[in-house]
Amino acid sequence: MAILSGKVALVTGSSRGIGRAIALELAHQGADIAINYVHNAIAATEVVREIETLGQRAISLEADVGDFSQAKTMVDCAIKELGHLDILVNNAGITRDMLLMRMREDDWEAVLRVNLKGVFNTCQAAMRPFLRQRSGRIINISSVSGLMGQVGQTNYAASKAGMIGFSKSLARELGPRGITVNVVAPGFIPTDLNADLDAEMQAHLKSLIPLARFGAVEDIAYAVAFLASAQAHYITGVVLPVDGGLSM
Ligand code: NAD
Repeated sequence: MAILSGKVALVTGSSRGIGRAIALELAHQGADIAINYVHNAIAATEVVREIETLGQRAISLEADVGDFSQAKTMVDCAIKELGHLDILVNNAGITRDMLLMRMREDDWEAVLRVNLKGVFNTCQAAMRPFLRQRSGRIINISSVSGLMGQVGQTNYAASKAGMIGFSKSLARELGPRGITVNVVAPGFIPTDLNADLDAEMQAHLKSLIPLARFGAVEDIAYAVAFLASAQAHYITGVVLPVDGGLSM
């Protein structure tokens, strides 16, 4: 039986890449899905169609997660249109890689705004309904960069490490009310986010991974689906690396 039957999930940044894979897997497991996109309405509509083909309800919601009021409106619309909300997956993220010496202030601010403030924005909007229903699952997509650091990613690594401290704190705040907060930390997963890495860099990265290969978007989706399921009800405040052993 589908492990998320009857549940409703909102996945941010889900018109492509890892977010799209998460949305499809949660739908495959029986959940209705609110897709969120910031620019590409056509891609979001295609994901909605794919989910409907799986027999689940889906809607797409335009919102910049870094904007407090847009994030709140998005959560409210998901609840209004799909009836309730059980699972929030904070997947939206950006990079603006640059050595710190040359990093511009707006490269710092843009990354922190989407990757970290975005999580604050959506979690604060979703926690009220979660508290009322005394249940809810929050799954935040961090990165091995937040665990290990990465040259050229002081902004990104700070946002992803910040997300971990945020999630553990929120897990403590919401635990007594039956709400879990967990983090999935992907390793290297080929998507649009890292499409500009040259072959030499890719070979170098692969040589650091104990499983000696990159992951697939579905690998992240399976971990999220498990953490969203009833079987994971006694798991909160964890950081689950899905990285082929890179960060061990
Ligand atoms: P991606 O660029 O394909 O997807 C990111 C998504 O976030 C896009 O759909 C984008 O439109 C959306 N987004 C960006 N800014 C937004 C905003 N302000 N509001 C709403 N949506 C916004 O990249 P991806 O690889 O699929 O990344 C998904 C998540 O996984 C990100 O948080 C990323 O940091 C994380 N991650 C990816 C990797 C990897 O190797 N691909 C590794 C570690 C962590």
